[in-house]
Amino acid sequence: MSIDDAGRFVKSVTGRLALTYLAIIMLMSIAFSVVFYRTSSSELSRHLPTVAFYGDRLNPDIRQGVDQFLRNRIDEGRHELLLRLVLLNLLAFVAGGVLSYFMAIRTLKPVEDAMEAQSQFISDASHELRTPLTAIQTSNEVALRKPKLTLAEAKHTLAQNTEDVARLRQLTDGLLRLAKKDKVIALPKPISLQEVVAEAMNQIVPAAQAKKITVNDKVPNTKVLGDQQSLVQVVVNLLDNAIKYSESKATIVLNSSNKGRFAYLNIKDNGMGIRAADLPHIFKRFYRTDRSRSKEKRDGYGLGLSIADELVKQYNGEILVKSTPDEGSTFTIKLPLA
Ligand code: ADP
Repeated sequence: MSIDDAGRFVKSVTGRLALTYLAIIMLMSIAFSVVFYRTSSSELSRHLPTVAFYGDRLNPDIRQGVDQFLRNRIDEGRHELLLRLVLLNLLAFVAGGVLSYFMAIRTLKPVEDAMEAQSQFISDASHELRTPLTAIQTSNEVALRKPKLTLAEAKHTLAQNTEDVARLRQLTDGLLRLAKKDKVIALPKPISLQEVVAEAMNQIVPAAQAKKITVNDKVPNTKVLGDQQSLVQVVVNLLDNAIKYSESKATIVLNSSNKGRFAYLNIKDNGMGIRAADLPHIFKRFYRTDRSRSKEKRDGYGLGLSIADELVKQYNGEILVKSTPDEGSTFTIKLPLA
């Protein structure tokens, strides 16, 4: 390691934290050594024989000689002790340095991971925002460049822009929801699965009608612990996907069962399904399978499932998925029973 590298390390966050840890270790070690040295050396002197001990049993010359001899031995003892304590502190410095370095890395790892995830999120979000923005800009520029823009052309451009703006809204709504989830979490309350499903169904009616899809709801009146609004959002996201990734005129079935302390709400479709290789990733932010991205061109930003997953986890539940390509998928919301 060159002097430059060492300088850079000392200035880095890890370096500064490691030095702080080392300073604390050394401060404690030195303080302990000082106290130990002082107590031990005063203990040593305390054992020097006093005049009262000798009385007049020894002749003064011999007494002085013995005194001197004992004093010398005590001084030697003190030096020895000092040397050992200095060595011990040097050892503490080296071992403490290594320990501090690893402790600093361990302390900073979660912070670094969080920052990395945050910057990845920002860069993914910016990337997704760019696509509709570029589309709006291009269609406006093309329209403006035309010397004679007809009313029909202007309307076409405006319609395209409106579609892109709607997509932008969908994306920003999703981003806001993800940002919000870190803040206030409503306390879990007993809520009716039937009511949650009914409210979610109301919201997806236009999407289902547009593809002539039937949604079959067989959910009994089970009570689970959660938050009504959050759960409606979860069911809407899953139903929305079931509709999006199914052919028109398909049927989606909702049912639920209880097992142990949990309720299981199933949303089953016979749509395009998900390949096994994609399954571990579908709950990640911005993840979309290749099929939904390119071949079949279905709208979305890969945020729906990550939002649903985070919401369910806030209420001690989870989302399970079983899927077979070209046969369909079943998403199951598992929640604690009230
Ligand atoms: P989006 O639907 O906006 O792409 P999601 O986070 O809701 O984002 O879903 C992530 C990916 O998981 C989707 O792009 C799609 O490939 C896959 N997926 C989710 N639900 C289904 C489903 N019911 N059927 C098939 N694929 C699905």
